[in-house]
Amino acid sequence: MPRPIRATISAGALAHNLRIARTHAGRARIWAVIKANAYGHGLERAARALGAADGFAVLDFAEAERLRRAGVTQPILMLEGIFTATDVPLLNEYALTPVIHHPRQIELLGALARPVDVYFKVNSGMNRLGFTTANAQAGYQALRAHPRVNTVTLMTHFADADGATGVSAQLERFAALTEAFSGPRSLANSAALVRFPETHADWVRPGIMLYGCSPFADRSAEALGLKPAMTLASEIIATQELARGEGVGYGLGYRAEREMRIGVVACGYADGYPRHAGAGTPVLVNARRTRVVGRVSMDRSRPPPARSATSSSARLRRASPS
Ligand SMILES: *Cc1c(COP(=O)(O)O)cnc(C)c1O
Repeated sequence: MPRPIRATISAGALAHNLRIARTHAGRARIWAVIKANAYGHGLERAARALGAADGFAVLDFAEAERLRRAGVTQPILMLEGIFTATDVPLLNEYALTPVIHHPRQIELLGALARPVDVYFKVNSGMNRLGFTTANAQAGYQALRAHPRVNTVTLMTHFADADGATGVSAQLERFAALTEAFSGPRSLANSAALVRFPETHADWVRPGIMLYGCSPFADRSAEALGLKPAMTLASEIIATQELARGEGVGYGLGYRAEREMRIGVVACGYADGYPRHAGAGTPVLVNARRTRVVGRVSMDRSRPPPARSATSSSARLRRASPS
């Protein structure tokens, strides 16, 4: 028998969260970001549930290929573009839209057999990927002059759309970097989509909110009308009676504040449950809220059972973005 832990993915919640993204997006089209196995929710399953999206964004060519094989017909945006020359024919084969963030990628595009649409990424302040004042003009002109490049969409990514810095400095910088260029524009991740309508432009790129997580530390998913796409459930496989002061788990980092009974759940960091989920992380035991105590083990973590709990099932609901 497999261990009793199970992650349940709600297709309805994914579709609901996309509708919430749509209400924020207005007339902008939506790239549903399903990179990294749809943030762990399963690539094909998420693409099906998010079928109303205008396109899908991934990082990995193997994921793009899987989407096409699963029958996805919408555009697919490759968020880091091409990595090597062997990726170039795949752009044509699977009709993919690469993000071009580096001059070397433009050289590689010389090997294209047929035209593709591209995104031209500028670095407006995050300092991760993108062209800067030093090379944006040359890069953009090279793409416009390229015989196998169709449309060029202008793109940037925000470093702190969810934080205190916000987007205004990056918005200004993006405008300055691209003012001489024409074409559609795409800027917003989930946080910018919800918080800064002035970033919506032509295409938005929500990821985390589609899975039912708030991108903000101070606004809950519930307050944003989002529904959790994943529910992680397992079972209590043992209980322990603790005297006041006794420690729990590796490092004995949690000490019982009083006499208490704790449950041991078949769930740990080998299952993807974060090892850094501290004492106090919420857990539902038969729909009653309790908390994690003690350090999360590799395959066991320890919520004290809610006092009235009689059966041995615990539901661990993801409560915040990981
Ligand atoms: C991951 C990613 C997104 C989605 O970001 P969320 O914060 O998950 O909404 C959008 N754009 C780019 C370029 C990304 O890498």
